[in-house]
Amino acid sequence: MAVPKKRTGAKAQATRRSHWKAIKPATTKCSHCGATVLAHTVCTECGYYKGKAVSIKSADYQQEDTKAAKKTTKKAKKAEKEVVEVKEEAQQEETKAEETTEVKAEEQAAETENKTEE
Ligand SMILES: [Zn+2]
Repeated sequence: MAVPKKRTGAKAQATRRSHWKAIKPATTKCSHCGATVLAHTVCTECGYYKGKAVSIKSADYQQEDTKAAKKTTKKAKKAEKEVVEVKEEAQQEETKAEETTEVKAEEQAAETENKTEE
């Protein structure tokens, strides 16, 4: 172990320790309730950060369950797809029905023309 050659004097100690200072923490005022808050920190009084309710402490905080939200969105997307498919099928059926009625009408017209010619 290193052993100092001489005892450090009182002045040397004092000058060294003159740089030891307590740092005053950076504080700001809460944008929601106006309380003094540590900078870049959620307000301990109201639970707001940058104007948004972030903590359970705030009354209007809504906890988001991200997994549940993702699941619901997937289900919603699936339901939307199914609805679109059903609609497309219905449209195709309608167009088919229209085509068949048109064809039938044309056939009938042709038959009546034939009858009149006879
Ligand atoms: Zn606050």
